Order: sequence, then C-alpha cells, then structure tokens
Amino acid sequence: MLDPRLLAAAGEARVGFLYRSLRSLDGALSRLGGRLIVRRGDPAAVVAALASELGAREVVVTEDFGPYGRARDERVAQALGRVPLRAVGTPYAVPPGAVVKLDGGAYQVFGAFYRAWQSHGWPLPVACDQKGVVWRDAPGELVPPDPPATSGLVLAEAGELAAGSRLERFVAVALREYATGRDLPGIPGTSGLSPYLRFGAIHPRTVLASIGHTSERFRRELAWREFYAAVLFADPMSAQRSLHPQFAGLAGPGEIAHLEAWKAGATGYPIIDAGMRQLAREGFVHNRVRMLVASFLVKDLHHDWRVGARHFMARLVDGDLASNQHNWQWVAGTGTDAAPYFRIFNPTTQARRFDPHGVYVRRYLEELASVPDEFIHEPWRQPSGLATTYPAPIVDHAVERERALAAYRDRRGAVRVQREG
Ligand SMILES: Cc1cc2nc3c(=O)[nH]c(=O)nc-3n(C[C@H](O)[C@H](O)[C@H](O)COP(=O)(O)OP(=O)(O)OC[C@H]3O[C@@H](n4cnc5c(N)ncnc54)[C@H](O)[C@@H]3O)c2cc1C
Repeated sequence: MLDPRLLAAAGEARVGFLYRSLRSLDGALSRLGGRLIVRRGDPAAVVAALASELGAREVVVTEDFGPYGRARDERVAQALGRVPLRAVGTPYAVPPGAVVKLDGGAYQVFGAFYRAWQSHGWPLPVACDQKGVVWRDAPGELVPPDPPATSGLVLAEAGELAAGSRLERFVAVALREYATGRDLPGIPGTSGLSPYLRFGAIHPRTVLASIGHTSERFRRELAWREFYAAVLFADPMSAQRSLHPQFAGLAGPGEIAHLEAWKAGATGYPIIDAGMRQLAREGFVHNRVRMLVASFLVKDLHHDWRVGARHFMARLVDGDLASNQHNWQWVAGTGTDAAPYFRIFNPTTQARRFDPHGVYVRRYLEELASVPDEFIHEPWRQPSGLATTYPAPIVDHAVERERALAAYRDRRGAVRVQREG
C-alpha cells in the first residue's frame, strides 16, 4: 500500500530505499510461492477495496505509533466496517506507552526511562512460520523502480538479507569497540542499521538478541530510539512544538544565505560541509556529525531547529519523525534531556578530536584532499591561504558563540524577571 501523502514527504532517499526494500520482499515472497500486491492511493479506500475483493475476514497490520499512522489506521478501521483491523506487534522492542512512570505519565528523562525499559524487558524474536499459509493473488502494480536520481544519490543495499548481513558484520567487527568507535566518523564504527530499522527490514528484538550483553553502550543507543518514540507517542505535538520554547530560535532569525550555504555544504567549516555533503550523497550522516551540523545551524547560524529538522526529513534515508525531531530538540536545548543551551559545539575542536587525520572530511571534500593534517580542519589558516575552490568560513564561530550566549543570558534574565514579577 503506497500512500501518496507519505511518499510526497519522504524525499528521494527514503522513497528509493523503500522501493528497493519492497523489491527484496517481493523476491522473498515469490521464493515461497507468493507475490507482493502493490496498490497506491488513499489507505482507507484502497485497503477496504482489496479486503472486499479478497473476501477477507480480518486485516492484520503492524501497529503504528506515530501521529499520522494512528489517525490513518483509525480511518482504515472505519472504512473496513465489519471486517476487523487487527494491529499486532510493534517496530520497537517495547511498544511506546508500555513503559511509563508510576503516575502513568511518560518519562521525560532518558536515564530513568532506560532503567524502567530494561526491567520491563521484551520477548525474544520469533521464527517465521509458513505452515498453513494460503497465497491469494489479486491485480496490483509491480514494485516501482527507484525514483530518477537527480542528485547522484548512492544508497545502501536494501532488504532483510542485507540487514542481516550488516548486523552480522557489525557484531563480528565493531561491536566490542563500539563505545569509542561510534564517535569516529572516519571508520565504520557503528552498525549502519538505522535505515533497516526504519523500514522494518530488521526488528530491534533481533538486534538486541544478537548483541546480548556485549555492549551496554550499543543497547543504550537502541533505547534512545525507543525513548523518543515513547515521548512522541505521549505528546504527538512535540514533533513541532519546542518542549522548552524559551530556548527556541534565541539569537535568530538566521540569514537565508547562511541556511543555503549550510544545505550546500559550503560554510567553510570542513566537518560541517563534509556532513552536509554526506547527507546529499548518501541520505545519511554519521551521528557525531549530525550533532555538529545541527548545533552549527542552531547556535552558529541562529536558525530555528525546525528548519534543520525539515531539511533532514527531506533527505535522510533513515528519517524518522520521533528520532529526528527529538534529536534536533536535544541539540537546540529545547527538548527532553536536552544538552544545556550554553553547551555549544566547537566545530574545529570537535573535528580535531574525532577526525584527527581528516579521513572523514577528505572523503566528502575532494577539494581538500591535499591539505596537510595540521590544517585540514582550518584550511583558512594555511600559510599559503585558501588555494582551492573551498570557501572561507561564512561566520566566525567564536563571535557567533558569544552572540548565542548573550541571547541566552538575556532570555534567562527575562524569564527570571517574569517569574519574580
Ligand atoms: C540531529 C539529529 C537527527 C537525527 N535523525 C535521526 C533520524 O531521523 N532517524 C534515526 O534513526 N536516527 C536519527 N538520529 C540518531 C542517530 O544519528 C542515528 O540513529 C544513527 O546515526 C544511525 O546510524 P547507525 O545505525 O550506524 O547507529 P548506531 O550507532 O549503530 O546505533 C544503533 C541504532 O540505535 C539507534 N540510535 C542511535 N543513536 C540514536 C539517537 N541519538 N537517537 C535515536 N536513536 C538512536 C538507531 O536506531 C541506530 O540505528 C539523529 C541524530 C541527530 C543528532
């Protein structure tokens, strides 16, 4: 069931990855004697029509916990009339809403959620059982080809088999060193599983069962995904509303020309530009670099976090409303568990620390390939000057940091005066 509303919002990377995932699923089903029936249109009308064509006694779907999915499934259930819509399972280890505080409210602090989530526990993954399956056919589209690549996007292989081999490779090669490797964008130190989790090609319970207790750190990262899904489930408006609005867009509004330079990977700060070019080229950005580019947009260029979140959602192959919006709020200092507003990432010192030889930066900024390590994160400091086509920094981080902090101090003062007054 292809929902034009979701397709329109998904962007080239997610649509391409979805179609590849569907082709892989179709291949797997045909090896079992079946076929994927693809239909397109308003979900309520299309599902009700197919159920009636097939004489279905019930329609089974994976439960959706996002705001749009929940409203859509209610409409589908109504359109089905007497045929029940049964929502089973969950794309999470623990369904959002199942781990709550003693008063029934949602956790707002990750540490407390994590402890409760661990003690709640989750079932082991179940093996697929084909017994008793009867295949029925009906007219439908073939799985569409990838959308025409307008930007030379390079996508990873999709599907369940690809997800499984990625997990296997990660467990064998990088899991033990994950706690340090995860922060180094130049090496394959993370699992790369996010697009597969996003499209249900692998279940988090399968991942958790494979890693066992080898890496507490990795388990925590998976729990962030569950935490943000639970926060969004409890408060669907938090996808757009700042949870601490007093820190939103503090020193803004930002300049449009700066936003365009950020999107194009032309800010003059190599780690930021490499991240934004990775986003354009692969629909993916390393987590450490996601934090840096997000911080740069909000704290150095003074744009509202929602502007950046929207751009990410249009480009990311793993774009997920809960994880994306709440990570942006975390960076902006407006969300649950947020980094304090005054903690502002310095793009140069962060780059020196996590990409000391510029391996990551050189991968995406060919024009800096021959810059010596010493200057790779500050090419403007080269004695010979900027001899390449690479731009000079569009802002001075030290100046913009002070501007953001001054706005923060003013706002804090204003909030205190209001409270006292
Ligand atoms: C500004 C910003 C936007 C983000 N947008 C998204 C998004 O749209 N979709 C998305 O899946 N992740 C998002 N993340 C979280 C994180 O960057 C990615 O999940 C991670 O980079 C995916 O790579 P990986 O699978 O190799 O991660 P690994 O390090 O191997 O982690 C394993 C899994 O844990 C989960 N995870 C790890 N870190 C986080 C986190 N901070 N928040 C939530 N889940 C996490 C993911 O499911 C990930 O696949 C965002 C982070 C930031 C800072």
